[in-house]
Amino acid sequence: MIDLRSDTVTKPTPEMLALFAAPSLRNRLGDDVFGEDTLTNEFERQVADLLGKEAALFVPSGTMGNQLCVKLSTSEGDEVILESGAHIFNYETAAPAVLSRVQLKPLDGENGILTAEQIDRAIRPVADWYPRTSLVCLENTHNRAGGIIYPIEDIERISELCRSKKLRLHLDGARLWNACAATKIAPKTYAQFFDTVSVCFSKGLGAPAGSAIAGTQSDIQKARRWRKLWGGGMRQSGVLAAMAKFALDNHLDRLLHDHRKALCIANAFAAHPTFKIDMTAVQTNIVAVDVSNTGLSERDVVERFREKGVLISSIKKNYIRLVTHLDVSMNDAENVAEIIQTF
Ligand SMILES: *Cc1c(COP(=O)(O)O)cnc(C)c1O
Repeated sequence: MIDLRSDTVTKPTPEMLALFAAPSLRNRLGDDVFGEDTLTNEFERQVADLLGKEAALFVPSGTMGNQLCVKLSTSEGDEVILESGAHIFNYETAAPAVLSRVQLKPLDGENGILTAEQIDRAIRPVADWYPRTSLVCLENTHNRAGGIIYPIEDIERISELCRSKKLRLHLDGARLWNACAATKIAPKTYAQFFDTVSVCFSKGLGAPAGSAIAGTQSDIQKARRWRKLWGGGMRQSGVLAAMAKFALDNHLDRLLHDHRKALCIANAFAAHPTFKIDMTAVQTNIVAVDVSNTGLSERDVVERFREKGVLISSIKKNYIRLVTHLDVSMNDAENVAEIIQTF
């Protein structure tokens, strides 16, 4: 089976698993709730530096990272502006309502991209009867829109708007690494426009688990406390941090291979008479395809692919999604391209 359901399905590489054969690494593990896991502490420093922030915090998942950042930037009853396809809005189990008691205000972007003008219009006036707008969240790359890269000019203008309106700005950077690989823009160049940033090591980078958030020293200190309250204190988390560090040190550049594999698959869809695909939206490692002309539902198309040995997913009505990653080779991608031709 070629598994293209998500870039989260990767298994740790043999190099990652071999890290712990070295006794020296074992000796640097400690209890991270006591702040004594050297591997985690050093990795948090590395991530903070890479993102140009004062501090960073290693967290179990991207969801926890995003939710901690929502918590840091809101009070109960506030409103958060984001794009209607945002991961925080669609795939985090309504956590902002439960954990931060805030209301979300989703706006429809073009291919997942909101403009500063659109956000400006959505900011509430100040009155007792209005919710207080306090936070804007952007996503780069945009998952549901199909791995779209947020144009840095838009980010800069949104950042200026937020500063002038005293709103906080958060980046869901689960796949920020893919945007950086494709544009050659440094992570800290993107991150400078945001108060808080979350990044994942368990997506394209291939670590088995682990994400991080970055921001000011004071925010990260608060987030540490919330992380514990939410059950995210992980003790010898250096086991995960070491694998995440290996991924960050060695797998950033190879993301471009994933982008090439995605392009190979996308081209096969584009050449096919009944699948519809917007090639301008194929920018990183995600391929989203409109199947409305096939006469099949997206679920039936997913099933047909499964019968041919390829696991894919449906993202919304009439759309399927294929994601390339560390555990699919260029050869696999070429095989998938051939399978697409047989439809
Ligand atoms: C995967 C993902 C997350 C975090 O997901 P977890 O499964 O909780 O690690 C957050 N945002 C985006 C855009 C994602 O794709």
